[in-house]
Amino acid sequence: MPMSSRLKPGNILAQRWFARAEVEVEADRYVRYLAERGYARDTVERYFRSVAHFVHWVSQRDVALCDLSESQVNQFLHVHLPHCRCARQCCRTEVDARAALKHFFAMLGNAQTKPVPSVSTSIAAELAGFERHLIEVRGLANSTCTVRLRDVRQFLVDRFGTSTVRVSTLVSADVVRFVMRRTTGLGPGSVNSVVLSLRSYFRFKASCGTSTTSLIAALPRVALWRLAGLPNFLTPAEIRQLLNAFNRDSATGMRDFAITRCLLDLGLRRAEVAHLRLDDIDWRAGVMRVRGKGRRTDVVPLPRLTGQAIATYLRYGRPQTTRREVFVRHRPPLNAAASVDLVRSAVRHAADRCGLQQRVRGTHIFRRTIACRMVQRGAPFKEIADLLRHRSLDTTTIYAKVDLLALRRVALSWPGRRP
Ligand SMILES: [Zn+2]
Repeated sequence: MPMSSRLKPGNILAQRWFARAEVEVEADRYVRYLAERGYARDTVERYFRSVAHFVHWVSQRDVALCDLSESQVNQFLHVHLPHCRCARQCCRTEVDARAALKHFFAMLGNAQTKPVPSVSTSIAAELAGFERHLIEVRGLANSTCTVRLRDVRQFLVDRFGTSTVRVSTLVSADVVRFVMRRTTGLGPGSVNSVVLSLRSYFRFKASCGTSTTSLIAALPRVALWRLAGLPNFLTPAEIRQLLNAFNRDSATGMRDFAITRCLLDLGLRRAEVAHLRLDDIDWRAGVMRVRGKGRRTDVVPLPRLTGQAIATYLRYGRPQTTRREVFVRHRPPLNAAASVDLVRSAVRHAADRCGLQQRVRGTHIFRRTIACRMVQRGAPFKEIADLLRHRSLDTTTIYAKVDLLALRRVALSWPGRRP
C-alpha cells in the first residue's frame, strides 16, 4: 500500500492532484521522507496538501517541476495563495507552503530542481572564474563564497543583463547606484557585506589585468560602531548569569549548555561548533580538532569544564542518531546535525531567559570577551591571535584596539583584586 494512501481521507483531493500531474511517485516519497524525519502526522498531512496544491498550480501552467524558476515559486507563494480559488479544502497558509516546498525541493535533491534564477552564459562564466578565485586563492569558507557570489551575481545582472560582461566599461556611478539601491533598509553589517563582495570581485578582476582602481575607490566606507557607550564584552558576573540560565536536567538544556561552553571557553565560531564531530575530540590527550575558517584545521586543548559539559551531553542528553556531529537536533527533522542557526538560538534563548538579550545578540561577543580578558591580563597579541585562530595578526590588533578603551573604563570600576 502506498504511504500517501495511509493519510486521512480528506487528502483524496491532494492525491488526485499529484496523480493528475503524473507525480504520484513523488507524493509517496514525500510522505515517507517527512515520516522518516520524525514529523508528526498532522504536519505531514498539512505539508502534503500544501505541496499537492503547488503541484496542481504548476501543472496548469505547463511547466515541468524540474524547470521551475525561483520567481515562479515566489509567484505561487505571494500572488496565487492570497487569491487562490482552486478548491475549498486547499491548504493556502504561506508559512506551511514555504516549509513544505523547502522539504520537497530538498527531497528532489539534485541541483536542477533547486529554484535558482538563471543568468546569461557570459555572467555564468564570470561567476565561475570568481568562485574558483574565492576557493583556491582566497581559501574562503563555503558560506562566505555563497554570499560573495550572490552579491556579485546581482550586480552583474543589474548592470549587464543578457549582454556580455565588460568590466572595463564600468564607471564609478554604476557602482554607487547599485550599492545605494541594493542596500536600502539594510543595517550597517549587511551593507558592509555587500561592499566587501564587490571589493573582492574588483580585486579579482585587477589580478586578471583589468583596471578597477576607480571602482574600488567608489565603494562606500561603512561605519560599524555599535553600542558605542557599552563595553562590547561580557563581565564575569554576566557570564555566570548566562551559564545559570540553562536547565541542565533536560536533554536540550545539556546540549545548549555544552554549545555555550564551547563558544565561551574556546572562542569557537558558530560554524565551528556546529561542525564539531565525535572523532574531533581526543579524550585521552585532552585536545580537540577545530575545522575553522578558510578550510584550516587547528588542534586546541580541551578545557576541563568544556569537556565535562560535552561528555554529559553525549552520555545523558544526545538522542540516538547516525550522525557523527557532536550536536544534533532534538526536534524534527530528526537525525540531523545542529545547524549554525541552532547554535545561535541556543545562546539567544538563554540570554532572553536571564535578561541579557540586549547584550548577547550573537555569538561573536564571546570571542571579544576572550580577547579582552587576555588583553587585560597583558597577554601578547600573538597569543590572542593563536587562541582565536586568526590567520593574520592584524585582525587581532583591530579587535583589541576597539575594545581597549572601553575595557579601561570598566576595568577601573571593577571591585576586588586586579589580576
Ligand atoms: Zn490554489
